[in-house]
Amino acid sequence: PRLANQIAAGEVVERPASVIKELLENSLDAGATQIEIDAEQGVKLMRLRDNGDGIEQEDLPLALSRHATSKILALEDLEAVCSLGFRGEALASISSVSRLTLTSRRTGADNAWQVQTEGRDMEPSVSPAAHPQGTSVEVRDLFFNTPARRKFLRTETTEFKHLEEVVKRLALSRSDVAFQLRHNGRVIHQLRPAQTEAEHERRIASVCGPAFIDQALSLDVSAEASGLRLWGWIGLPTFSRSQADLQYFFVNGRIIRDKLVAHAVRQAYQDVLFHGRHPAFVLYLELDPKLVDVNVHPTKHEVRFREGRLVHDFIFRTLHRVIADVRP
Ligand code: ADP
Ligand code: MG
Repeated sequence: PRLANQIAAGEVVERPASVIKELLENSLDAGATQIEIDAEQGVKLMRLRDNGDGIEQEDLPLALSRHATSKILALEDLEAVCSLGFRGEALASISSVSRLTLTSRRTGADNAWQVQTEGRDMEPSVSPAAHPQGTSVEVRDLFFNTPARRKFLRTETTEFKHLEEVVKRLALSRSDVAFQLRHNGRVIHQLRPAQTEAEHERRIASVCGPAFIDQALSLDVSAEASGLRLWGWIGLPTFSRSQADLQYFFVNGRIIRDKLVAHAVRQAYQDVLFHGRHPAFVLYLELDPKLVDVNVHPTKHEVRFREGRLVHDFIFRTLHRVIADVRP
């Protein structure tokens, strides 16, 4: 089981950013509307606090346990495990390679409870704690017991950049949730929930930089017939050149990276402006969930559209029209 734990941990916990991604997804799953993330000295300490539903006292040790250990019998099984994903295993994986404290207070409960682990050596015991409704997870000394993995960590600055990117993506996907990100005590992002269009733009500007939203074209297009909707902001190329990595595409609220989508976007720019390199965009595509499979791989950002051609042409035509409209 030790081998299994660490193999699986290696897959799901690649670096500090992957820890934060799993923790953030758990908070969102728990219905949190406020999430605070702290990172200190690279992997020394990461802390996340949410105001979600919380975890029952008796469920706390369970949350850290691995449900599917038996699935990993030998190294040869690794590939099969990869294709299954690691559902129900994120906290177990993280706790197996760090010193983890999980504190939670369930909605309506009189007080909070806490479990602590150091690697996988001990059975966590539950003790009372002080905490408002919601959950905090503190992860210290990531990879303290896996030196090989620790060696692959980059500088604190680089690891934090990755972590920040994860927070940005999830913050862009859920504008109804408040996010705060601090690095060594300094507030890096403070994002309030957005309801109105103005609030939404302010929030995008806060994540992507004010220059982006100043120059970006906003769009909101529905294709009634085929049940597709595309909305968001696209940058003009003058701006885009300096922001090569400002490319966010969400399908039904999930960030994706997809060849078909990338092609449609690039083509739309190229067709009007004769070059489509590095366009900046924050785009949201909504469609019938039955027409898209977002679970191709749990840790990658792939999708499979049932009607690829239709989706491609819709994105292309929509963006083409918007870009052509502003061409001088
Ligand atoms: P999964 O999310 O796939 O169920 P995890 O290992 O990420 O597996 O989490 C295990 C369980 O712990 C979750 O199913 C959930 O019940 C509980 N949990 C984890 N984080 C939170 C949180 N922030 N708020 C409420 N419950 C949580
Ligand atoms: Mg999870």
